Amino acid sequence: MGIIKKNFLPNEYVQSVYQIDFNKLAEQGFKGIITDLDNTLVGWDELQPTESIKKWFKQADDLGITVTIVSNNHEKRVADFCEDLNVDYIFEARKPRGRAFNQAIQRMNLQPSDIVVIGDQMMTDVFGGNRRGLFTIMVVPIKKTDGFVTKFNRIVERRLLHHFKRKGYIKWEEN
Ligand SMILES: [Mg+2]
Repeated sequence: MGIIKKNFLPNEYVQSVYQIDFNKLAEQGFKGIITDLDNTLVGWDELQPTESIKKWFKQADDLGITVTIVSNNHEKRVADFCEDLNVDYIFEARKPRGRAFNQAIQRMNLQPSDIVVIGDQMMTDVFGGNRRGLFTIMVVPIKKTDGFVTKFNRIVERRLLHHFKRKGYIKWEEN
């Protein structure tokens, strides 16, 4: 079970990205964020960033934290979302594979130890970040509905969550 914990247990778990304390991250020495888009920043069917998400990006920017959106979704979805945000992005990232994570770290010109990975999926975001040795924060997905592949991943994810809870590794409440 050690390997499962190492790969799939996030370092932190929060209800939403708004609970992430940028000041604390900056104090801890983190300089970059790799974040998922769908169901992490907004619902998968929301095309544009909300006002609160725009503020969230501005807060990170004000503290000198660079953000890159790394999404498994296609170019148009990611590019349209990022248009007003002035943020770098990688689409069709194929998380949990490592290539897009490496690309994002390189583009931000940072070290892996400087990076926080944020996402709503254990099988792609958390697994991808953990296996690359990055600090991972999991958020509760904004919407319950998902695509086909995600539905399958969610079944595995629920089992892992249950296992971690039973072991006492995580203590959060599901909404
Ligand atoms: Mg997602």
